[in-house]
Amino acid sequence: MAKQKILNKITEYETIIIHRHVRPDADALGSQCGLKEMIRLSFPEKEVYAVGEEDPALHFFARMDVIDDAKYENALVIVCDTANTGRISDQRYTLGKEVIKIDHHPNNDPYGDTMWVDTSASSTSEMIFDFYKFDEHGVLRLNSQIARLIYGGIVGDTGRFLFPSTSNKTFKYAAELIEYPFDRSALYNGLYDIQEDIARLRGYVLQNFTLSPAGMSSIKLTKDILNKFKVEPIDTGKLVGVLGDVQGIKAWVFFIEEDDVIRVRVRSKGPVINELAAKYNGGGHPLAAGASIQSWEEANKFVNDLEELCAKYT
Ligand code: AMP
Repeated sequence: MAKQKILNKITEYETIIIHRHVRPDADALGSQCGLKEMIRLSFPEKEVYAVGEEDPALHFFARMDVIDDAKYENALVIVCDTANTGRISDQRYTLGKEVIKIDHHPNNDPYGDTMWVDTSASSTSEMIFDFYKFDEHGVLRLNSQIARLIYGGIVGDTGRFLFPSTSNKTFKYAAELIEYPFDRSALYNGLYDIQEDIARLRGYVLQNFTLSPAGMSSIKLTKDILNKFKVEPIDTGKLVGVLGDVQGIKAWVFFIEEDDVIRVRVRSKGPVINELAAKYNGGGHPLAAGASIQSWEEANKFVNDLEELCAKYT
């Protein structure tokens, strides 16, 4: 059983380094740092680190450790919330002695010596709480700092308990997590407050999205637009959900022009979109996926493909 094997490995190693995906979101950080703090609390003698690039907007939620390559010698590496190796933040994960993958995305790129993949979980943070529950009466410990991280990760990946991935178990776990005292209002404010510039760009999106009769919507955020609104590509995560409330939309896509690529962020209320994302070297969940493309021609092709998916979906 994967959970027992993972607990055995954690018990065995003195140094544990935890990674997650690039461009971190709340679930990536919540699962990574929730697990880190749980191990530290349960095994105070171990060295446990969380690494990867930071997003300043999420500094309030969790911070990273900065470590030398030498720390990887004889270390156990755990990678949370990352479907494929190319998206692991900090590619030094290969320097460890052994790798464990913990994830809730479809397992298209199996990697690591041990894998625990549960696509029925709303979030990897939910899986970390599952891990705790599995050994609740054993060595694993939880406190309010850890509960906040896990809860924040669940909230982030379920869109505040809105997406269909939110299960009976998700609500049960959320109820248990809020038994621990942490400031939920402050957490929601940190996750959902947006800066004025992003709010104005949101207005631009609502004024300029397209909507086809088949229920496909798209919006292109070029460098010029991003500069005009003084918004960084990484901050567009807080915009993508906004079209989900528009009546008649089945699936929608944001194209965000970065220095070297055009980032594709696609969402759906029914049509399965991760296979389409995979066609463009991306991936993700059936209803939330992403990819990176090189040109606006490719973006137009993506729009046509998405339109076809929406037209076929009834
Ligand atoms: P995002 O729009 O970045 O929030 O991504 C939505 C989902 O798609 C996440 O679950 C990501 O794991 C996945 N995803 C985004 N970009 C990529 C990519 N380039 N390759 C594989 N999966 C991706």
